[in-house]
Amino acid sequence: MSIVMSVNAGSSSLKFQVFSMPEEKVLAKGLVERIGLPDSIFSITVDGKKTETVCDIPDHKVAVDMLIKALIDKGVVKNLDEIEAVGHRMVHGGEYYSDSVKASPEAEANFEKCIPLAPLHNPAGLVGYRSFREALPRASHTFVFDTAFHQTMPEKAYMYGLPYEYYDKYKVRRYGFHGTSHSFVSKRAAELAGKPYDQVKTIVCHLGNGASICAVENGRSVDTSMGLTPLEGLVMGTRSGDIDPAILEFVSKKEGLDIAGLMNMLNKKSGVFGLSNNLSSDFRDLEEGMDSGNNEAKTAFEVFCYRVAKYVGSYAAAMNGVDMIAFTAGIGENSGTVRAYVMKYLGYLGITLDEEANKKRGEEIAISTADSKVKVMVIPTNEELAIARETVALV
Ligand code: ADP
Repeated sequence: MSIVMSVNAGSSSLKFQVFSMPEEKVLAKGLVERIGLPDSIFSITVDGKKTETVCDIPDHKVAVDMLIKALIDKGVVKNLDEIEAVGHRMVHGGEYYSDSVKASPEAEANFEKCIPLAPLHNPAGLVGYRSFREALPRASHTFVFDTAFHQTMPEKAYMYGLPYEYYDKYKVRRYGFHGTSHSFVSKRAAELAGKPYDQVKTIVCHLGNGASICAVENGRSVDTSMGLTPLEGLVMGTRSGDIDPAILEFVSKKEGLDIAGLMNMLNKKSGVFGLSNNLSSDFRDLEEGMDSGNNEAKTAFEVFCYRVAKYVGSYAAAMNGVDMIAFTAGIGENSGTVRAYVMKYLGYLGITLDEEANKKRGEEIAISTADSKVKVMVIPTNEELAIARETVALV
């Protein structure tokens, strides 16, 4: 047995899980929130028992020291040497990485070069990694990139209709995100359907606060809805997804917004939140709003689902067919209403919904009928476990 941690560092947060491998048993999991702000929150769950501490945690280094001390205090490990490896979720690996890698000065330098592509996420990943490396110098560390799975996309899928020199000079192209989830869920879909992963066409709908769709053909990502950044594609919780780029000039003039103001609007004030007239970015609230006759909530819900259905259609075209569709993440796993609404558009693919099965929440289940031409499934994603598996495979 070996103990492996998977870590996801955000700018003010740190999520972690501790696994014993290869059994894949979760020994502990937790979250540090509001790092660098007053009243930071540290929570850790061991054996189903959650403890929460509120105190000031000024930076990631302090957060890491605190969580490691908690692992010892709670008996998860006896000493630090028991933690053999730490897998770090790193957002943007650019064109450098089509797979996870062992951390090294070279990997760190390459990752640093991708900071302009993900100015908010990549620095957080680095700070997290460096804090853990200092705290656990004898452990092996790995980088697991959100973009890596999509590096198999062909040029025709990743190039924008922009001057070529921007690709040449700055690597402006589509990269895609949620790769760890799309890979995990598409593999699991093949397993559950009893089909060889390298001979099957799958569309994965990762529908959470951030949402993206991926076309996986014969085990390789061939297209995905997010682009240079996670703003492209689906309508999301607060992100616009695809829009006419000329809207920016129009709104900028009307509202007197500069680039930062426009980006803030597109990332934080749009999506179903903006569409619902600021009611909520959460589908539980939108569905409740719809049920009580709120028209904007209904519009937001319909726009979201319609966009998902259109992407599914375009990826069925891109792969010249589809064998399986998988729903995952917060909305995909929990909202039968969203799934049913999306599937209403997919009858032409020979899909029929099993309404009873679709009522289930958060479990692995087929929601298409036995005679449906395409198998539709709900598959809970598990990015932490995927990171731990990748890490074991590397070290
Ligand atoms: P992310 O990881 O991108 O922050 P998640 O995958 O955790 O997001 O998804 C969070 C979203 O899932 C919530 O904002 C909410 O819209 C949706 N969600 C969670 N539970 C339910 C539910 N029971 N019914 C409908 N939507 C849900």
